[in-house]
Amino acid sequence: MNHYLLLTPGPLTTSDTVKQAMLKDWCTWDDDYNIDVVQKIRQTLVSLATSSNDYSSVLMQGSGTSSVESVLGSAILPNDKLLVINNGAYGKRMAEICQVLGLNHQVLTFKETQAPDIALIANTLTSGDFSHLAMVHCETTTGMLNPVEAIAALCDEHKVRFILDAMSSFGGITMDVAQLNIEFLISSANKCIQGVPGFGFVIGKLAAIERCKGNAKSLSLDLYDQWHTMEHANGKWRFTSPTHVVRAFGQALLELEQEGGVAARQARYQQNQQLLCHGMKELGFEPLLPVEMHSPIITSFYSPSAPEYDFNRFYQGLKALGFVIYPGKVSDADCFRIGNIGEVYPEDIKRLIAAIAQAKYW
Ligand SMILES: *Cc1c(COP(=O)(O)O)cnc(C)c1O
Repeated sequence: MNHYLLLTPGPLTTSDTVKQAMLKDWCTWDDDYNIDVVQKIRQTLVSLATSSNDYSSVLMQGSGTSSVESVLGSAILPNDKLLVINNGAYGKRMAEICQVLGLNHQVLTFKETQAPDIALIANTLTSGDFSHLAMVHCETTTGMLNPVEAIAALCDEHKVRFILDAMSSFGGITMDVAQLNIEFLISSANKCIQGVPGFGFVIGKLAAIERCKGNAKSLSLDLYDQWHTMEHANGKWRFTSPTHVVRAFGQALLELEQEGGVAARQARYQQNQQLLCHGMKELGFEPLLPVEMHSPIITSFYSPSAPEYDFNRFYQGLKALGFVIYPGKVSDADCFRIGNIGEVYPEDIKRLIAAIAQAKYW
């Protein structure tokens, strides 16, 4: 069914069965949809995130950013103060949301190729009166995996509520939100769960969701109201839900379970990433980040220094061979990115490496 393999972390390559799940029309207020599909999805999401009973989930229309905006715009009360950790485009986007919504916040900015400085963050938390901290888990800009355990420990120590943008990692990297004492985790349908784009979701502490009541800066992105309707009207969405996309997501969750769960998926992604990195190095490409900062999600490589190299020719050449890669997003280095999440297997990565080796596009 696919014309090419998307090596882009969202939208990504989905299975034929996920796509087929969209071939029926569904009624938004019928139990077949709400109870059998939506409620089941909400429960499954929580069970993927933790075994604790203190958490619930909310699905939210829009791309992943809508869900981030929904959390920040609902959870930061007038007397709260948020510390935003920024070491890439998605950390920066959270800061932009705070600015647009007029939230009380401070941004701590690091270089895109630099891991967040734990000591500096600790100092900032000590000297300020912060109620919340928000960070990206896997910075998709570079592929860097940020130090979630260390930051979670700092938040615990300083009694600060931890908001994690786990958009490109949830479902592909094992973690327990209760163990990390995460207040809100945000992700979306078209990343590691391997669904199609159209909505995002939030896994949050029940008490934290209830704390948002009456505080939202937006009607359609009101996290509490959306949760309240879903929770008390058996999976109903307040406004038109993306029914086909939600059905596809239900199928994608089933396929995650069939694969063996998050740990098994992480192992496949890791194997993909290691093959990619190794194969690219053999071809003379250098990854942007040192290996210990790599995530199993996406990898940035420096563009070849050959003067004949042109990203667009490289891109078009690979696309003709069945692979779509991603342009770079780092501000001060010339790179391109290759993702390996989605319905992508080690054999695909081997074929990709062979394609790049065979056809030098510069
Ligand atoms: C994909 C992604 C988002 C959301 O981007 P959208 O374009 O709104 O879907 C947010 N944060 C991270 C880390 C991402 O990878």
